Amino acid sequence: MKKVLLLVLCFGLALLLAPSASMARIQFVTIGTGGVTGVYYPTGGAISRMVNKKAKIYNMKATVESTGGSVFNINAVLNGDLEFGIAQSDRQYQAVNGMKEWKGKAQKKLRAVFSIHPESITLIASDASGINSIADMKGKRIGIGNPGSGQLGNSRDALALAGLDEKKDIQAEYIKAVEAASALQDERIDAFFYTVGHPNGSIKEATAGRIKVHIVPIPDVQSLIAKYPYYAKAFIPMKFYPNATNKEDKVATFGVKATLVTSSDISDDIVYAITKEVFDNLEAFKKLHPAYSVLTKKNMLEGLSAPLHPGAVKYYKEAGLM
Ligand code: GLU
Repeated sequence: MKKVLLLVLCFGLALLLAPSASMARIQFVTIGTGGVTGVYYPTGGAISRMVNKKAKIYNMKATVESTGGSVFNINAVLNGDLEFGIAQSDRQYQAVNGMKEWKGKAQKKLRAVFSIHPESITLIASDASGINSIADMKGKRIGIGNPGSGQLGNSRDALALAGLDEKKDIQAEYIKAVEAASALQDERIDAFFYTVGHPNGSIKEATAGRIKVHIVPIPDVQSLIAKYPYYAKAFIPMKFYPNATNKEDKVATFGVKATLVTSSDISDDIVYAITKEVFDNLEAFKKLHPAYSVLTKKNMLEGLSAPLHPGAVKYYKEAGLM
């Protein structure tokens, strides 16, 4: 009886210890993304899928977290809550140079890994609102982005471009992109800004309801581009949103790039593994979202303003990209 009990006890103990002993070697890293209807969320999924195929080789596993967006991700990476974050190139620049949300506090520990898909500043309005240019936003209820999002900064720049004051000239709603489409369809707002890759679920959702909507062109952006080095002219292909009432096949606006960032505290091995798996399997990666169709190994090293992480540099040198 005693022997049997001992055997059962030993077996139970072995069962308990076995998985934890093997798991102890695996390092878990989390990638901060954005709202689930954006492109960051599936992008985090695509990156983790690539590296998790080699989980045994690298002894690491990547998971994804839905977050408030670029600014949240940069801050979470810097304070150690997340290992990686996806962030707009303009936000990366501002953090490194101590501007906007980081005014006077240059973030020395931020590191760039690579850049990903282009994102465009997308202003989507109900037809009934009469908003056909950024100047028409005057007096309207506009979703300009939650604190923590990338787009809040871009909305503010677009408002300044139109000569509008966020506090006096519009009714600013600081809502998340994930809630904005239904707010537009419920007529609780007249328009919202989203800085995002195309196609994406939020804009599709915003165009799919009862209320007729369109994307508002922002064509005159020369002064913005002259003032801020991280902005470029961009176009939103309307083929992605057949339910929008726009007549043109592409809508002019300005844009940035999505980038992957980390902290100088993260080990070279981990950053190397992620970089290598995405770059070595770029053709497979590109199939995971239509917004990646323009990616090349060369342009994925552009638009970065934080110092490159040494783990990424190790791969770029090996691959002859640097
Ligand atoms: N660009 C947005 C932000 O930084 C997120 C877009 C997305 O989730 O695809 O907040």
